[in-house]
Amino acid sequence: MTNLDLVGDDRPFRTCGGIDGRDDVNDQTAYLGDTACDHLAPILEVERPLRIFAVLDRQAYANSGAKDLIEKYFSGNCITRFTDFEPNPKLDDVRKGIELYRQAEPELVVAVGGGTSIDMAKLIRALAGTVDPEAVIRGKSPIVTSRSRFIAIPTTAGTGSEATQFAVVYVDGEKFSLDHASLRPAIAIVDPRLMNTLPAAVTAATGLDAFCQAIESIWAVGATDESVRYAQTAAALALAHLPQATNSPDSVSREAMCRASYLAGKAINISRTTASHALSYPLTSRYGIPHGIAVSLTLAPMLAYNAAVTDEDCVDVRGTDHVQTRIRLILDILGATSVHEGCLRIKSLLADLSCPTSLQEAGIASPDELRDVIDAVNTQRLSNNPRKATSASLFELLSPASTPRRRQKQPTAAL
Ligand SMILES: [Zn+2]
Repeated sequence: MTNLDLVGDDRPFRTCGGIDGRDDVNDQTAYLGDTACDHLAPILEVERPLRIFAVLDRQAYANSGAKDLIEKYFSGNCITRFTDFEPNPKLDDVRKGIELYRQAEPELVVAVGGGTSIDMAKLIRALAGTVDPEAVIRGKSPIVTSRSRFIAIPTTAGTGSEATQFAVVYVDGEKFSLDHASLRPAIAIVDPRLMNTLPAAVTAATGLDAFCQAIESIWAVGATDESVRYAQTAAALALAHLPQATNSPDSVSREAMCRASYLAGKAINISRTTASHALSYPLTSRYGIPHGIAVSLTLAPMLAYNAAVTDEDCVDVRGTDHVQTRIRLILDILGATSVHEGCLRIKSLLADLSCPTSLQEAGIASPDELRDVIDAVNTQRLSNNPRKATSASLFELLSPASTPRRRQKQPTAAL
């Protein structure tokens, strides 16, 4: 196992209790590397839970090899499994999980799967203590902090959900995000062995999520020096290793993407995401475009848009010079000497992954469809974008400049 020598983190890597690859920062312990799952044994030895609640993506649990690596550690424990949920968490599924969780009264929650499983576990833990989960989701009631411990074990490298304190949930097609310190897993186990069997389409989509989260995090109004360090490393790792991890995966590229994903998660946990993420949610909920691909479709246009920030439309109180410094950092990571070149570099990454390179290529071809997407964006969510973005400015930016193509069928990844 390689050490978790987190580049971009100026705190020294800590080796605790003889356990290599352990990172204790921001109240989370993370194990990253190709034996990370093996740490479950000493962890359970310390935690000694009487009852475990496992939120499992049934398919991913079997296909990723997680079952072979993890199941043995559960033997002898009273374990309740929740597997009855669809990709992209929906309130109805969360309610089913809450019911089981209340019956189980667990001391430990373990989530294994992609972003959906981890977010689902976060939502169940956060909402089980309230009589009206929907009121909490809508911000009308506070979260009742759960006392159960929480371990997240991702089987995809991309969402970074194992590192964040937020969870996405859809209520009647409308997207909400729960954001509370108690949602963050106490322990993250990021083992690249669990990604060995990921199909190329899922590797690409989830890896793009990590890449976009990192780039957005750098220009975000909420970015700090610390988050930028994480994001910078994450973006560089994803740019360098995602094509290999997608097209001809090996252990180096898989581990690099695990690291990129985890660091991008740490970055957005501080900075939050920006316009490309805001635009992505209707693309996913209305058009079925996998989350990471949906985000990537507007990343290049948003780079051009944000690079043209002026004193009149700068949202970041640190000013246009600050935003321009962040844009230059992004261009450096992309190996570009101009914004135009930077945009082309992003598009060539998407092409290398056999992904659509624009909204039009992804099937959002008509002005009506684009209007439909933009109207569904909560413009308040755009307040973390460094340049003021309105429905009108986004429509102008994203309107097709080229001839629309036929909609391509997208893989439906469990993100
Ligand atoms: Zn994302």
